[in-house]
Amino acid sequence: MDIGGLETVVANSAYVSARGSVDGSAAATLRDKKMRAKLQLPHITRCEHLKEQLEPEFRSLCVRQPIGKRLFQQFLEDEEAFRAAGGLWKSIEEYTTAEEGERGQKAQQTVNRFFDSASKTFCAFLEEKAVMRVKEDACHGRGDLFQETEQRLLQHLEAQAWAPYRDSLFFARFLQFKWLEAQSVTDEWFLDFRVLGKGGFGEVSACQMRATGKMYANKKLNKKRLKKRNGYEGAIVEKRILAKVHSRFIVTLAYAFQTKTDLCLVMTLMNGGDLRYHVYNVDEKNPGFPEARAVFYTAQIICGLEHLHQNRIIYRDLKPENVLLDDAGHVRLSDLGLAVELSEGKDKTKGYAGTPGFMAPELLKNEEYDWSVDYFTLGVTLYEMIEAKGPFRSRGGEGKWGHLLHVENKEVTRRILHDPVKYSAKFSAACQAACEGLMAKEPAGRLGFKDNHCAQLKALPLFQKMNWGRLEAGLVAPPFVPDPKTVYAKDIGEVGAFSTVKGVVLDEQDRAFYEEFSSGNIPIPWQEEMLETGVFGELNVWGAKGTVPRDLDR
Ligand code: ADP
Ligand code: MG
Ligand code: MG
Repeated sequence: MDIGGLETVVANSAYVSARGSVDGSAAATLRDKKMRAKLQLPHITRCEHLKEQLEPEFRSLCVRQPIGKRLFQQFLEDEEAFRAAGGLWKSIEEYTTAEEGERGQKAQQTVNRFFDSASKTFCAFLEEKAVMRVKEDACHGRGDLFQETEQRLLQHLEAQAWAPYRDSLFFARFLQFKWLEAQSVTDEWFLDFRVLGKGGFGEVSACQMRATGKMYANKKLNKKRLKKRNGYEGAIVEKRILAKVHSRFIVTLAYAFQTKTDLCLVMTLMNGGDLRYHVYNVDEKNPGFPEARAVFYTAQIICGLEHLHQNRIIYRDLKPENVLLDDAGHVRLSDLGLAVELSEGKDKTKGYAGTPGFMAPELLKNEEYDWSVDYFTLGVTLYEMIEAKGPFRSRGGEGKWGHLLHVENKEVTRRILHDPVKYSAKFSAACQAACEGLMAKEPAGRLGFKDNHCAQLKALPLFQKMNWGRLEAGLVAPPFVPDPKTVYAKDIGEVGAFSTVKGVVLDEQDRAFYEEFSSGNIPIPWQEEMLETGVFGELNVWGAKGTVPRDLDR
């Protein structure tokens, strides 16, 4: 074995053992005790000013932020007047994520406990008509059975519970966590593991948040290389978009900080390799996926796209190699460097961006376009997962014959604009219909995102067996689980080094930009990390009922 090979083996084994035992519960044992000790809640008197600084937005503070929601729910449970409403909230969540077979029973339980005026936990704030509808539909077990109820419930809580909550000790505890969350981040908090891949401006490596033990991927952008290649604008767009989206189907940004030499984006670690690798390189004699597997990934990608589009973001670079697998075999969209955000009031954009063979006709024709370009790329991606070949270009894996299959870009463009797609016997009727609907040449006739949802797409016969509620909660078992001992990345030697950047001097203006970029903790993922690694539970200590903990005693 040569030195490079040995280096990879050593790096892999350190990395495999670190990530193998990190499943939340075990993370505690892998923590750096000294760093963990730095995560302490301050006395409440040091956080009081935050109460004025926080946007008083109920949905954000009590629903979307995970620690905010947890503490708000603890408040509801603690207050006699809100206990029933809190119970209904949890009951709806259980229903939405229940297996198909259990839904009827869960629905009935919820109806009996909260919709029946004879019950002790009857929720009188629900509207009678809506109650009737739920009672009638309870037997169907539909995923959206309680959607209207949940909206009504949140309105009720905002009107009645939100104000008393803000005066409670639970909200004071929330302020303590917000204080901790706002502390600055440096590279001291992270331990780097092996390199996973190479980006345009630096390496991506595995890393561990030392205080909690949680593993992440650290995408480094070299400051000098960024400056030399005018990368600032792209870097800040990617960071802003990543920080804005919160979906289990898109890599999440948890921290943005800087070192002397690099800007760092700390994101969800995706260990399982990308879809391109799995389509072509895992079983080279038999490339492509069985339909069920392709359908599973397509469904998860749809959830990711739906979230982006609800946030007015066009991805533009969907393709198998940008879809990454995690340890369990779930996928997420990654590399949002080409994404654009439509400003309020604007519904279209222009500009040539994407990968040849994937770009939609309207984009290639240099017309204005919207998110429907992403459903075209979805069609191409689904096609490639089944056929192991793009619909408009013949490309194989990275094998040595790859160059022979290469088709000129101009010819690819011509085919996208004019040629119908051919389907082999590998496609079922339902799968072909979905591909055709997605790869419609006219955006107006294309399947996709309408009225803020992908409902039409999700209702296709191709997804007949999909339980979308469970999929969205991460509860559908993936069709393929990556081998935990395999590192789905190139050998360290093959990743390739960067040449040093010469002749670039950094000045005050550059430093101001780095400050803007390095915003530290991203609230939602940081709160998730605290909950899932158990740190939240260790810090959220209350003592005997009726007493005020010392750190909350004003
Ligand atoms: P760039 O935008 O510079 O191309 P990418 O975001 O594509 O950078 O990252 C470069 C490479 O790093 C990817 O091709 C992949 O191999 C690896 N990588 C990126 N993000 C992750 C992640 N979250 N988890 C694991 N590996 C990743
Ligand atoms: Mg990339
Ligand atoms: Mg990129």
